[in-house]
Amino acid sequence: MDFLRPDTVAEALALKAERPEAVPIAGGTDVMVELNFDRRRPAALLDLTRIAELREWSAGDGVVRVGAGVPYARIITELGDRLPGLAMAARTVGSPQIRNRGTVGGNLGAASPAGDAHPVLLAAGASVEVASTRGRRLVPATDFYLGVKRTALAPDELITAVHVPETGAPQQFSKVGTRNAMVIAVCSFAIALHPAQGRVGAAVGSAAPTPRRAADAEAFLAGELADGDRWASPRPLPDPVVRRFGELVASAASPIDDVRGSAAYRRHALSVLARRALGWAWRDYTGEVG
Ligand SMILES: Cc1cc2nc3c(=O)[nH]c(=O)nc-3n(C[C@H](O)[C@H](O)[C@H](O)COP(=O)(O)OP(=O)(O)OC[C@H]3O[C@@H](n4cnc5c(N)ncnc54)[C@H](O)[C@@H]3O)c2cc1C
Repeated sequence: MDFLRPDTVAEALALKAERPEAVPIAGGTDVMVELNFDRRRPAALLDLTRIAELREWSAGDGVVRVGAGVPYARIITELGDRLPGLAMAARTVGSPQIRNRGTVGGNLGAASPAGDAHPVLLAAGASVEVASTRGRRLVPATDFYLGVKRTALAPDELITAVHVPETGAPQQFSKVGTRNAMVIAVCSFAIALHPAQGRVGAAVGSAAPTPRRAADAEAFLAGELADGDRWASPRPLPDPVVRRFGELVASAASPIDDVRGSAAYRRHALSVLARRALGWAWRDYTGEVG
């Protein structure tokens, strides 16, 4: 197996163009599991860990650009204020060791329906920055996930960063697992309030072939919040509104029965997660504005 070790993004892209079959490796917390279990035997690994640019983040014009190689541990310590939803999801990933190695770029590359970053990125309205020797492009997160572990990435492309709007408004992430830590989500849910746009982002994970937005729930809640101008004069949400939101989130899922949970359980759990997360996010918003 060839082990390719570029020092810059340009070198990495040139190698990927030359060897599209080369498997990128960042933290290795997914790739090494596959190699150890002999599920994959790639002809070449493309090690991205020497590339400083991928480990940087920057903020400007209301957007945080998080390099694909920034590990979860740094998202928690350095971006908790700017990207609260992503930091919440990062805190639930694996263990301290996994959070030190694992990256959002790797989560996107693996594109497991259960990846914890995905619902947050969808709810926040993030875009994935991908690059090749042909140039860079921004793919909205909603267009990035094509199927189970399938993405919009072309064979010669690498993920270079994720662009996440910095809204300054409450966000929440919640996940159900079989225990509290070191657990793959049975299902997960993220919500992001976008008061400046009068919009709500909501998305489910581990409950369909891909992570996906709960578009009907988003539209319903945006309508309820516009009604009586709740954004400007926030007050508690009526129970039927919160319940309906939960139902619509659950109906966005098309879950399966598997070892981690039944489809019926996942739907039920999603409606509960959605109600709770909405309650927490709206309480925070009311506290800030009211
Ligand atoms: C014990 C354990 C617990 C875990 N717990 C969780 C959890 O709670 N939640 C969760 O979501 N995940 C969990 N994971 C999975 C894993 O940690 C995450 O998916 C993590 O984000 C992967 O990041 P990485 O940098 O290690 O990726 P890698 O393993 O290096 O790569 C993952 C995939 O992405 C591709 N890739 C990596 N970087 C790029 C790039 N820049 N461009 C294109 N493709 C790229 C790789 O080729 C590979 O296909 C766990 C894994 C383990 C081993």
